[in-house]
Amino acid sequence: MSKVAETVLEIDLGALRHNYEYLKSTLHPGTKFVAVVKAFAYGHDATKIAPFLEKLGVDYFAVAYTSEGIELREAGIQTPVLVLHPQSVHFDSLIDHSLEPCIYSDHIMSRFLEITNARGLRDYPIHLKFNTGLNRLGFGEDEAEKVFTVISGKHSVKVASIFSHLAAPEDPDEDRFTRSQINAFRRMTEMFENIAGYRPLLHQSNTSGILCHPEAQFDMVRSGIGLYGYGNDETKNRHLRPIGTLKTVISQIHRLEKGDSLGYNRAFIAEKPTLTATLPLGHADGIGRPYGNGKGYVRINGKYAPIIGNVCMDMIMVDITDIDCREGDEVVVYGKNPSAEEFAATAGTISYELITAISRRVKRVYIGG
Ligand SMILES: *Cc1c(COP(=O)(O)O)cnc(C)c1O
Repeated sequence: MSKVAETVLEIDLGALRHNYEYLKSTLHPGTKFVAVVKAFAYGHDATKIAPFLEKLGVDYFAVAYTSEGIELREAGIQTPVLVLHPQSVHFDSLIDHSLEPCIYSDHIMSRFLEITNARGLRDYPIHLKFNTGLNRLGFGEDEAEKVFTVISGKHSVKVASIFSHLAAPEDPDEDRFTRSQINAFRRMTEMFENIAGYRPLLHQSNTSGILCHPEAQFDMVRSGIGLYGYGNDETKNRHLRPIGTLKTVISQIHRLEKGDSLGYNRAFIAEKPTLTATLPLGHADGIGRPYGNGKGYVRINGKYAPIIGNVCMDMIMVDITDIDCREGDEVVVYGKNPSAEEFAATAGTISYELITAISRRVKRVYIGG
């Protein structure tokens, strides 16, 4: 761990390698791996994370939107890129950048077929998404036969994969539901080969699926949060290492007397003499207002300092009355201790929301490559 002189998100590529290798070690031999690098690689910058993972040999990348796929190509990524949630307005640039669309509805299917046909393409790889119970995105089971028949009659596209997404794979109380999703996926994919005459890749699991349902690995798995060191299950997570540590420094120390107020709206009133430290990060950096007023805490010289008063755009203030520290000292917001999961929980949210919200003005520093 290096000392910092400003707010930085320190990203440990050694931990990323460890998480990738650990997740791979849980897979049946030959199972392919999709690295999910949407949302700026969950806040860690896909243009740095994806090239590193490409060298480690991931089989596919996945992003949510076409623009994110274009960023990967502009960063030199050659590996196939699955765009999980494209809009038809971007299909031309998606094709121009050799990105592979998820086809999830009749509208999206017919627009993509029109464009590939008009451009005279052959066997352009597409990925069919089916809804097995999340009820968010994808064709229904009742549409499978029709979709397979339409697609297999078109030469402009070829189905690279068929996939679905689990709703609650980390929750043992929902095992029956997860099993019904896995069975539905099996049923609808079984008929594809008969209709089309070839076998695409099948995939249904995200990180929690990998960790909790090895029977749902099929040909490929998609992992995002696990690569970044988190999961949704405390015991299964223990082999993963958080790759990002959000650090900052003490800008200034103030002493409040009994009755003094702190920050906007005078939300904190000192009940006794209180030492406070002002830190250079705020809600514009991704630490939102729910962390204020005693909910969240940071770590300074091994001790916990609660965030007091309202979170400002560019600053938070913490109570350091019982901590031996000075201006310029390092502060850990999250990383190993507290983890992003623990820090997020103080504001009633989850690691995914916290780490994807760290804004681009926070400098990213890479170590351990
Ligand atoms: C985001 C996403 C993933 C990755 O999920 P994690 O829980 O981060 O592993 C996988 N599949 C789909 C369809 C997604 O949208």
